[in-house]
Amino acid sequence: MSTTVPVPAYQLPTGYRHVYSGKVRELYETPDGHLLFVATDRISAYDWVLPTSIPDKGRVLTAMSLWWFERLADLVAHHVVSTEVPEVVAGRAFLARRLDMVPVECVARGYLAGSGLVEYAASRSVCGVDLPEGLVEGSRLPEPVFTPATKATLGEHDENVSLDRVAEQVGRELAERLRRTTLQVYARGHGLAEQRGILLADTKLEFGLDPQDGSLVLADEVLTPDSSRYWPAGSWRPGGPQPSYDKQYVRDWLVSPAARWSPSSGEAPPALPEEVVERTRQRYVAAYEALTGRRFA
Ligand code: ATP
Ligand code: MG
Repeated sequence: MSTTVPVPAYQLPTGYRHVYSGKVRELYETPDGHLLFVATDRISAYDWVLPTSIPDKGRVLTAMSLWWFERLADLVAHHVVSTEVPEVVAGRAFLARRLDMVPVECVARGYLAGSGLVEYAASRSVCGVDLPEGLVEGSRLPEPVFTPATKATLGEHDENVSLDRVAEQVGRELAERLRRTTLQVYARGHGLAEQRGILLADTKLEFGLDPQDGSLVLADEVLTPDSSRYWPAGSWRPGGPQPSYDKQYVRDWLVSPAARWSPSSGEAPPALPEEVVERTRQRYVAAYEALTGRRFA
Protein backbone atom coordinates (compact mmCIF):
# COMPACT_ATOMS: atom_id res chain seq x y z
CA MET A 1 0.00 0.00 0.00
CA SER A 2 1.18 3.52 0.69
CA THR A 3 4.17 2.53 2.76
CA THR A 4 7.58 2.29 1.21
CA VAL A 5 10.33 1.11 3.49
CA PRO A 6 13.91 2.05 2.67
CA VAL A 7 16.54 -0.65 2.57
CA PRO A 8 18.36 -0.95 5.93
CA ALA A 9 21.59 0.99 5.87
CA TYR A 10 23.55 -0.48 8.73
CA GLN A 11 26.67 -2.52 8.17
CA LEU A 12 26.63 -4.86 11.14
CA PRO A 13 29.35 -7.34 12.03
CA THR A 14 29.08 -10.83 10.57
CA GLY A 15 26.58 -13.03 12.33
CA TYR A 16 23.84 -10.37 12.50
CA ARG A 17 20.93 -11.23 10.26
CA HIS A 18 18.40 -8.62 9.12
CA VAL A 19 14.92 -9.97 9.92
CA TYR A 20 12.50 -7.08 9.58
CA SER A 21 12.02 -3.47 8.46
CA GLY A 22 9.26 -1.50 10.15
CA LYS A 23 8.37 2.00 9.09
CA VAL A 24 10.88 3.38 11.55
CA ARG A 25 12.85 0.47 12.95
CA GLU A 26 15.14 -2.29 11.74
CA LEU A 27 15.31 -5.64 13.49
CA TYR A 28 18.23 -8.02 13.37
CA GLU A 29 18.87 -11.39 14.90
CA THR A 30 22.12 -11.43 16.84
CA PRO A 31 24.63 -14.28 16.75
CA ASP A 32 23.35 -15.53 20.11
CA GLY A 33 19.69 -15.50 19.11
CA HIS A 34 18.61 -12.18 20.62
CA LEU A 35 16.95 -9.38 18.70
CA LEU A 36 18.76 -6.15 17.92
CA PHE A 37 16.21 -3.30 17.82
CA VAL A 38 17.52 -0.35 15.85
CA ALA A 39 15.60 2.93 15.81
CA THR A 40 16.42 4.77 12.61
CA ASP A 41 15.94 8.52 12.13
CA ARG A 42 13.04 7.84 9.77
CA ILE A 43 9.75 9.51 10.47
CA SER A 44 6.30 8.49 9.35
CA ALA A 45 3.19 10.60 8.93
CA TYR A 46 -0.18 9.93 7.36
CA ASP A 47 0.96 6.30 7.05
CA TRP A 48 3.90 7.22 4.85
CA VAL A 49 7.56 6.99 5.61
CA LEU A 50 8.76 10.47 4.70
CA PRO A 51 11.68 10.92 2.30
CA THR A 52 13.46 13.11 4.87
CA SER A 53 14.83 11.82 8.19
CA ILE A 54 15.04 13.70 11.50
CA PRO A 55 18.63 13.69 12.81
CA ASP A 56 18.96 12.19 16.31
CA LYS A 57 15.37 10.93 16.41
CA GLY A 58 16.42 7.30 16.70
CA ARG A 59 18.82 8.00 19.54
CA VAL A 60 16.29 10.15 21.40
CA LEU A 61 13.56 7.54 21.15
CA THR A 62 15.83 4.71 22.16
CA ALA A 63 17.06 6.65 25.20
CA MET A 64 13.49 7.43 26.14
CA SER A 65 12.33 3.83 25.82
CA LEU A 66 15.21 2.62 27.98
CA TRP A 67 14.48 5.29 30.60
CA TRP A 68 10.87 4.16 30.79
CA PHE A 69 11.56 0.42 30.82
CA GLU A 70 13.59 0.99 33.99
CA ARG A 71 10.84 3.00 35.59
CA LEU A 72 8.21 0.35 34.86
CA ALA A 73 10.28 -2.68 35.80
CA ASP A 74 8.52 -3.19 39.14
CA LEU A 75 5.16 -3.34 37.34
CA VAL A 76 6.09 -5.63 34.48
CA ALA A 77 9.19 -7.41 33.18
CA HIS A 78 10.65 -5.96 29.99
CA HIS A 79 12.50 -7.41 27.02
CA VAL A 80 15.72 -5.37 27.15
CA VAL A 81 18.76 -7.53 27.70
CA SER A 82 21.60 -5.10 27.05
CA THR A 83 22.51 -1.75 25.55
CA GLU A 84 25.89 -3.00 24.40
CA VAL A 85 25.45 -2.96 20.67
CA PRO A 86 27.69 -2.76 17.61
CA GLU A 87 29.35 0.63 17.15
CA VAL A 88 27.43 1.57 13.95
CA VAL A 89 24.14 1.59 15.86
CA ALA A 90 25.46 2.82 19.23
CA GLY A 91 22.87 4.84 21.14
CA ARG A 92 20.05 3.95 18.79
CA ALA A 93 19.67 0.27 19.60
CA PHE A 94 19.29 -2.33 22.32
CA LEU A 95 19.32 -6.08 22.52
CA ALA A 96 16.06 -7.73 23.45
CA ARG A 97 15.02 -11.26 24.21
CA ARG A 98 12.91 -12.83 21.55
CA LEU A 99 9.31 -13.29 22.63
CA ASP A 100 6.16 -14.86 21.29
CA MET A 101 4.38 -11.60 20.55
CA VAL A 102 0.76 -11.16 21.61
CA PRO A 103 -0.98 -9.92 18.45
CA VAL A 104 -2.76 -7.05 20.18
CA GLU A 105 -1.91 -3.36 20.22
CA CYS A 106 -2.56 -2.53 23.87
CA VAL A 107 -3.71 1.05 23.97
CA ALA A 108 -4.57 3.06 27.06
CA ARG A 109 -6.26 6.42 26.71
CA GLY A 110 -6.68 9.07 29.36
CA TYR A 111 -7.86 11.77 26.96
CA LEU A 112 -9.96 11.88 23.84
CA ALA A 113 -7.95 12.09 20.61
CA GLY A 114 -7.21 10.27 17.38
CA SER A 115 -9.22 7.15 16.61
CA GLY A 116 -10.75 7.34 20.11
CA LEU A 117 -12.30 10.66 19.20
CA VAL A 118 -13.60 9.33 15.88
CA GLU A 119 -15.25 6.35 17.59
CA TYR A 120 -16.65 8.49 20.38
CA ALA A 121 -18.23 10.88 17.90
CA ALA A 122 -19.95 7.96 16.18
CA SER A 123 -21.02 5.87 19.18
CA ARG A 124 -20.22 7.71 22.45
CA SER A 125 -18.01 4.73 23.27
CA VAL A 126 -14.50 3.53 22.47
CA CYS A 127 -13.78 -0.17 21.99
CA GLY A 128 -17.02 -1.10 23.74
CA VAL A 129 -16.35 1.19 26.71
CA ASP A 130 -19.21 3.65 27.20
CA LEU A 131 -18.19 7.24 27.88
CA PRO A 132 -20.16 10.19 29.24
CA GLU A 133 -21.80 12.68 26.92
CA GLY A 134 -20.34 16.09 26.21
CA LEU A 135 -16.68 15.17 25.82
CA VAL A 136 -14.73 17.08 23.19
CA GLU A 137 -11.41 16.61 21.42
CA GLY A 138 -8.70 16.68 24.07
CA SER A 139 -11.07 16.10 27.03
CA ARG A 140 -9.73 14.14 29.96
CA LEU A 141 -11.69 10.91 30.38
CA PRO A 142 -13.33 10.16 33.76
CA GLU A 143 -10.81 7.36 34.08
CA PRO A 144 -8.25 5.87 31.69
CA VAL A 145 -9.64 3.18 29.41
CA PHE A 146 -8.08 0.17 27.71
CA THR A 147 -8.85 0.41 23.98
CA PRO A 148 -7.07 -2.47 22.24
CA ALA A 149 -6.56 -2.79 18.52
CA THR A 150 -5.68 -5.69 16.31
CA LYS A 151 -2.26 -5.40 14.76
CA ALA A 152 -2.40 -4.56 11.08
CA THR A 153 0.08 -5.77 8.52
CA LEU A 154 2.44 -3.20 7.01
CA GLY A 155 0.54 -0.38 5.34
CA GLU A 156 -2.85 -1.23 6.82
CA HIS A 157 -4.65 0.56 9.64
CA ASP A 158 -5.01 -1.09 13.04
CA GLU A 159 -8.61 -1.82 13.98
CA ASN A 160 -10.05 -0.92 17.38
CA VAL A 161 -11.69 -3.92 19.05
CA SER A 162 -13.52 -4.71 22.29
CA LEU A 163 -12.03 -6.56 25.24
CA ASP A 164 -14.31 -9.50 24.39
CA ARG A 165 -12.77 -9.70 20.93
CA VAL A 166 -9.31 -9.75 22.49
CA ALA A 167 -10.47 -12.50 24.86
CA GLU A 168 -11.71 -14.58 21.93
CA GLN A 169 -8.33 -14.20 20.30
CA VAL A 170 -5.95 -14.77 23.22
CA GLY A 171 -8.12 -16.12 26.05
CA ARG A 172 -9.95 -14.34 28.83
CA GLU A 173 -7.21 -14.56 31.40
CA LEU A 174 -4.51 -13.07 29.19
CA ALA A 175 -6.90 -10.40 27.90
CA GLU A 176 -7.61 -9.29 31.46
CA ARG A 177 -3.92 -9.25 32.27
CA LEU A 178 -3.18 -7.15 29.21
CA ARG A 179 -5.85 -4.70 30.28
CA ARG A 180 -4.68 -4.50 33.86
CA THR A 181 -1.00 -4.14 33.00
CA THR A 182 -1.60 -1.61 30.23
CA LEU A 183 -3.62 0.59 32.57
CA GLN A 184 -0.95 0.28 35.27
CA VAL A 185 1.77 1.32 32.83
CA TYR A 186 -0.36 4.21 31.61
CA ALA A 187 -1.02 5.39 35.17
CA ARG A 188 2.67 5.29 36.04
CA GLY A 189 3.59 7.03 32.77
CA HIS A 190 0.94 9.69 33.16
CA GLY A 191 1.91 10.35 36.77
CA LEU A 192 5.63 10.71 36.09
CA ALA A 193 5.11 12.82 32.98
CA GLU A 194 2.64 15.12 34.73
CA GLN A 195 5.25 15.95 37.37
CA ARG A 196 7.39 17.23 34.49
CA GLY A 197 4.65 19.34 32.95
CA ILE A 198 3.70 16.85 30.26
CA LEU A 199 0.40 15.08 29.73
CA LEU A 200 0.48 11.52 28.46
CA ALA A 201 -2.77 11.52 26.50
CA ASP A 202 -2.55 7.93 25.33
CA THR A 203 -0.07 5.21 24.56
CA LYS A 204 0.27 1.93 22.71
CA LEU A 205 2.09 -1.02 24.25
CA GLU A 206 3.07 -4.39 22.89
CA PHE A 207 3.58 -7.46 25.00
CA GLY A 208 5.09 -10.85 24.40
CA LEU A 209 5.20 -14.14 26.24
CA ASP A 210 8.46 -15.63 27.36
CA PRO A 211 8.85 -18.82 25.30
CA GLN A 212 10.31 -20.66 28.30
CA ASP A 213 7.87 -19.91 31.12
CA GLY A 214 4.98 -18.11 29.38
CA SER A 215 5.32 -15.02 31.56
CA LEU A 216 4.11 -11.65 30.28
CA VAL A 217 6.85 -9.28 29.11
CA LEU A 218 6.63 -5.67 27.97
CA ALA A 219 8.20 -5.47 24.51
CA ASP A 220 8.80 -3.14 21.59
CA GLU A 221 9.37 0.55 22.34
CA VAL A 222 7.62 2.11 25.29
CA LEU A 223 6.15 5.54 26.02
CA THR A 224 7.94 7.28 23.16
CA PRO A 225 6.37 10.10 21.14
CA ASP A 226 6.06 7.59 18.27
CA SER A 227 3.87 5.28 20.35
CA SER A 228 2.17 7.89 22.53
CA ARG A 229 0.55 11.30 22.46
CA TYR A 230 2.42 13.70 24.71
CA TRP A 231 1.02 17.18 25.24
CA PRO A 232 2.65 20.09 27.03
CA ALA A 233 0.40 20.45 30.11
CA GLY A 234 0.59 24.23 30.03
CA SER A 235 -1.11 24.56 26.67
CA TRP A 236 -3.78 21.88 27.17
CA ARG A 237 -7.15 23.30 26.08
CA PRO A 238 -9.88 20.73 25.33
CA GLY A 239 -12.00 21.60 22.33
CA GLY A 240 -9.59 21.03 19.47
CA PRO A 241 -6.30 19.44 18.46
CA GLN A 242 -3.56 19.83 21.08
CA PRO A 243 -0.02 20.90 20.35
CA SER A 244 2.03 17.76 20.83
CA TYR A 245 5.59 16.73 21.47
CA ASP A 246 6.02 14.84 18.26
CA LYS A 247 5.39 15.20 14.57
CA GLN A 248 3.18 18.22 14.94
CA TYR A 249 5.28 20.48 12.72
CA VAL A 250 5.66 17.76 10.17
CA ARG A 251 1.96 17.02 9.94
CA ASP A 252 1.07 20.71 9.88
CA TRP A 253 3.61 21.43 7.19
CA LEU A 254 2.55 18.46 5.05
CA VAL A 255 -1.01 19.74 4.86
CA SER A 256 0.01 23.39 4.43
CA PRO A 257 -0.09 25.00 0.96
CA ALA A 258 3.73 25.12 0.95
CA ALA A 259 3.93 21.32 0.70
CA ARG A 260 1.62 21.18 -2.31
CA TRP A 261 0.58 17.72 -1.19
CA SER A 262 -2.51 16.08 0.22
CA PRO A 263 -2.73 12.90 2.32
CA SER A 264 -5.56 11.70 0.08
CA SER A 265 -3.58 12.22 -3.14
CA GLY A 266 -2.18 8.70 -3.01
CA GLU A 267 1.19 10.16 -3.90
CA ALA A 268 4.35 10.02 -1.81
CA PRO A 269 4.85 13.08 0.40
CA PRO A 270 7.52 15.65 -0.51
CA ALA A 271 10.87 16.19 1.21
CA LEU A 272 10.77 18.32 4.35
CA PRO A 273 12.36 21.78 4.42
CA GLU A 274 15.34 22.19 6.73
CA GLU A 275 13.42 24.38 9.16
CA VAL A 276 10.71 21.76 9.68
CA VAL A 277 13.36 19.10 10.20
CA GLU A 278 15.18 21.20 12.80
CA ARG A 279 12.05 22.20 14.71
CA THR A 280 10.90 18.59 14.79
CA ARG A 281 14.30 17.47 16.03
CA GLN A 282 14.16 20.11 18.76
CA ARG A 283 10.71 18.92 19.75
CA TYR A 284 11.87 15.33 20.27
CA VAL A 285 14.92 16.48 22.23
CA ALA A 286 12.78 18.82 24.33
CA ALA A 287 10.38 16.00 25.19
CA TYR A 288 13.26 13.77 26.24
CA GLU A 289 14.95 16.44 28.34
CA ALA A 290 11.73 17.60 30.01
CA LEU A 291 10.66 14.07 30.83
CA THR A 292 13.92 12.62 32.06
CA GLY A 293 15.56 15.75 33.43
CA ARG A 294 18.67 14.66 31.53
CA ARG A 295 20.50 16.51 28.81
CA PHE A 296 20.49 14.86 25.42
CA ALA A 297 24.04 14.49 24.21
P1 ATP B 1 5.16 0.24 12.46
O1 ATP B 1 6.23 0.84 11.69
O2 ATP B 1 3.80 0.64 12.06
O3 ATP B 1 5.39 0.32 13.96
P2 ATP B 1 5.71 -2.46 12.82
O4 ATP B 1 5.11 -2.48 14.18
O5 ATP B 1 5.49 -3.60 11.94
O6 ATP B 1 5.23 -1.25 12.03
P3 ATP B 1 8.26 -1.99 14.07
O7 ATP B 1 7.53 -1.42 15.22
O8 ATP B 1 9.45 -1.28 13.58
O9 ATP B 1 7.28 -2.16 12.87
O10 ATP B 1 8.73 -3.48 14.31
C1 ATP B 1 8.87 -4.05 15.51
C2 ATP B 1 8.34 -5.45 15.39
O11 ATP B 1 8.95 -6.27 16.36
C3 ATP B 1 6.86 -5.52 15.65
O12 ATP B 1 6.29 -6.46 14.78
C4 ATP B 1 6.77 -6.02 17.09
O13 ATP B 1 5.58 -6.72 17.35
C5 ATP B 1 7.98 -6.92 17.15
N1 ATP B 1 8.58 -7.10 18.48
C6 ATP B 1 8.74 -6.17 19.44
N2 ATP B 1 9.39 -6.68 20.53
C7 ATP B 1 9.66 -7.98 20.23
C8 ATP B 1 10.32 -9.06 20.92
N3 ATP B 1 10.86 -8.89 22.14
N4 ATP B 1 10.38 -10.26 20.31
C9 ATP B 1 9.86 -10.45 19.07
N5 ATP B 1 9.25 -9.47 18.34
C10 ATP B 1 9.14 -8.25 18.91
MG1 MG C 1 5.46 -1.01 15.74
